[in-house]
Amino acid sequence: MGHIDHGKSTLLAYIRKSTQPLNEAGGITQHVSAYEVEHESSEGKIHPITFIDTPGHEAFSGIRQRGAHVAVIAILVVSAEDGVKPQTLEALKSITDSGIPYIVAINKIDRPEANVERTKQSLAEHEIYIEGYGGDIPAVAISAKTGEGVPELLDMIVLVSEIQGLVGDRNKLGTGVVIESNRDVKKGVCATCIIKDGTIRKGMFIAAGKSIAPVRIMENYKGVQVAEASFSSPVRIIGWDSLPQVGSNFAVYENKNDALAHVEQENTRVMHPNTNTTYNPDTATLPVIIKADAGGSLEAVLYEIKKITNDRIRAEVVSSGIGTISENDIQLASAGTRHAIVIGFNTKVDSSAKHLAERNEIEIKTFDIIYKLSEWLADMLEKHTPKIQVKESTGRAKILKLFSKVKDRQIIGGRVETGTIKLGGQVIIFRRDAEIGEGKVKELQQQKNRSAKSGPQLIKPL
Ligand code: GDP
Repeated sequence: MGHIDHGKSTLLAYIRKSTQPLNEAGGITQHVSAYEVEHESSEGKIHPITFIDTPGHEAFSGIRQRGAHVAVIAILVVSAEDGVKPQTLEALKSITDSGIPYIVAINKIDRPEANVERTKQSLAEHEIYIEGYGGDIPAVAISAKTGEGVPELLDMIVLVSEIQGLVGDRNKLGTGVVIESNRDVKKGVCATCIIKDGTIRKGMFIAAGKSIAPVRIMENYKGVQVAEASFSSPVRIIGWDSLPQVGSNFAVYENKNDALAHVEQENTRVMHPNTNTTYNPDTATLPVIIKADAGGSLEAVLYEIKKITNDRIRAEVVSSGIGTISENDIQLASAGTRHAIVIGFNTKVDSSAKHLAERNEIEIKTFDIIYKLSEWLADMLEKHTPKIQVKESTGRAKILKLFSKVKDRQIIGGRVETGTIKLGGQVIIFRRDAEIGEGKVKELQQQKNRSAKSGPQLIKPL
């Protein structure tokens, strides 16, 4: 975890010894993905370590928080050039909230501007007390680019796990967390699960929330089918009956009935209506339909949309889901009294949907970078924000005489009592305190002057 551009992806890529750049749109890691690596410690022992790649953009703090809950150790990456940044603190908060131990990786030490000492001070200033600086948080100086310090970081991970006594039991039935789910056109519903304890074997049944799957097709992080997996491996299980919720806990069972009982229990749970979001009924709305490629990104988009929404206008999510933008979405967008805008994130548009959208004049927008989506939506909301008219009095005059009245033009004489009367200004006419008319100052004279301060005036309201 850590601030954007401080080197999380580069570190992961180095750890994976991959020379291939990670497949990222716009340089932001947009999926929580998990990788397993084997680290040979300095004593020559092999330790498999699972890395969960958590994204850096603040829109993903929902996923990031879950990242911390799924993970048992966090690595807080801080650039030795920039020191502590807002997202460093945000990441730190989700780490400390989840109560897991963490290691600070001071990165980019190969750069000429890098200053490890200053970074350590900057950490202390933000109450991150590392070893040698008044605290016990382990810190390792690294270069994700050259790899310097990375073996020490991996050793430190192993050490922390040993100190913390992080152990599991292979003989138990597997339990853990769903970190990603999506619907694949060819394969069906897939979910990436991190096994936190126990073992999953082919022939078992897995249940997460209200979803269930037979463990028939199970892949490791490389996409290779495996018959068995244990903690803390990530596995992809294919063939769910419905999309399991990202972040939900899963459990495996020896037989289907037990798995069904799990689902049954979930179904009978009392559902609480979402009372967190109360909207002012006067708020204008912009109806939108959201489609995303995966559960995690959908959640991130919805989170972002909620954030942009303000008092005067909000994006009203008419429907949201996973998959390509289809004819169904367009029909739904045309169904309401006002057309909804269909927004896709990392997803394609069916050609039939494209045609229907053209015919029905439905706007489709697709994005693959979350902040582009937010920027665009913020602009749209700005455009659709109802304008508030504020009446502000510039001055008050007393009518002393009505000189003439031709149709709706009146020439009156008066005395400005407070403020200024301006040419072109709107006027409201009162008798005592009751409003009796309104108009506009079409001409204004004060001894030939075009603006009137105090003294007798000639005012010609419309
Ligand atoms: P993320 O947003 O935290 O995932 O950051 P990235 O891994 O995308 O890194 C941001 C930029 O910093 C990229 O241009 C990297 O090549 C560069 N970078 C990351 N780590 C290092 C490092 O240790 N040394 C140097 N010189 N550059 C680094």
